[in-house]
Amino acid sequence: MHRRQFLKTGAAVGTFALIGTTGAQARDYRPGGPWAPNERAVNYSGYLDNEQLGERLQQIDKRSDRVELQQVGTSAGREDPIWEVTIGDGNESVHIINQIHGDEPTGPEAMVRILQRLARGNSPQVEEILDNLTITMMPRVNPDGSNFVGEDGLGDEGEFRQRRINTNEWEEGDTRYKNANSYYYWADHPGYDLNRGFNLLGHDPFDEQEAWWNVVDEEEELAYLDIPIEEVPLDLKDPSVDENPYDVLWSMGTNVNPENQAVTESYMEADPDWAITHHHQTPALHPETPEKGGGPQWQSVMSVMAPFGPHYIREDEYDYAGYVGDGNPYMSEDAQTRSLQLNQLVNERMQDFGYGLFNTLTRFGYGPLWGSYLDGLAPRTDAAGMLYEVSHQSDDRGQKALGTMVKVSVEGFMTTFESIADGSIGDVDPLDYFDMPLAEYFSGPFSRQRGLRESRE
Ligand SMILES: [Zn+2]
Repeated sequence: MHRRQFLKTGAAVGTFALIGTTGAQARDYRPGGPWAPNERAVNYSGYLDNEQLGERLQQIDKRSDRVELQQVGTSAGREDPIWEVTIGDGNESVHIINQIHGDEPTGPEAMVRILQRLARGNSPQVEEILDNLTITMMPRVNPDGSNFVGEDGLGDEGEFRQRRINTNEWEEGDTRYKNANSYYYWADHPGYDLNRGFNLLGHDPFDEQEAWWNVVDEEEELAYLDIPIEEVPLDLKDPSVDENPYDVLWSMGTNVNPENQAVTESYMEADPDWAITHHHQTPALHPETPEKGGGPQWQSVMSVMAPFGPHYIREDEYDYAGYVGDGNPYMSEDAQTRSLQLNQLVNERMQDFGYGLFNTLTRFGYGPLWGSYLDGLAPRTDAAGMLYEVSHQSDDRGQKALGTMVKVSVEGFMTTFESIADGSIGDVDPLDYFDMPLAEYFSGPFSRQRGLRESRE
């Protein structure tokens, strides 16, 4: 059954409106709780550092002729390698990025495990995947944030931390294009949020369109568009903002970071039909667990998101199966359908694990982020998109749930590969996606908020 009515009335709920459940409810969440306070939970030794990740990838490459490993970029601060791994030689191209936020570390761990299966496995499923898919994965997009050492993050000695942003500094005079939604100068050491750094149409700040990124409000340090509204290209206007697109469009990135450039080049070369990005979310609750299981709400193990949702409502432009008003104006109906199937498929797979842990998937509320991988790149090749949001950034929860988050990711990716390879992804009802409840985010005793934003993805 589909919640058509629910969606229409719930259309205003988006990424930034999902905060609020606090207090006693948050303290009671399960499963796995109660957990130690963050200060005792954080232990980064459970994760692969940059050097260890490189060694693991090289090991896998050396032992298998199925794998192609190459360095496709260098991080802005530490100048550590940005890796790309390709496996399979099928017609369906899948592009995957991980850990673009440094404190969201289980993607690379999952990639290593998946590569081990695909590089050495001989099962019919593995053969079918390698025959039908070409998988291009970037295990760790943000080595600077993943491996922040010492005071400026660049050293080899001192405290090892993980944090969201990279360490690239904006310098007066270097560029005028300081994007308010991507640059964090108030952090302990400044840097960029790389998942706000892409841009939809492939412009860079040095081309003739530079006026798009002019800083017009220096007091607020916001980079708004500085051209008359009638000159804003129609295909750049956000459909939900009829009068004034500036508020939304300033979030489009300038592609100044080497990490963004490496991802963009890798993406365009892969020319993917499917684009998947792995993240961690702020602790979230599954709103329907009390009805199903009794007692307090349980935590959501993961939220998923298709680049499609009620924020794209245009009266006359685009209609997706008569559903949720209108669709994403930058994607074909086919790509939107496949996006919904891609996300719902993983939800269905997790139901097979039985109630209580892996089947507490929720839907991540969608709001356009023009500088993100999914909004900035996927439309360029009309790729279906999926966002993984496993629970807890590492600076919120340390390594406590590492095994669970890696497992849910590995199982999700493997079922995706198998289902694209054998075509069964086409059997998923795309509208079932909307039956997943929206995640409820909360601030609680185990959720340390670090000031970048209340709800993070
Ligand atoms: Zn993220």
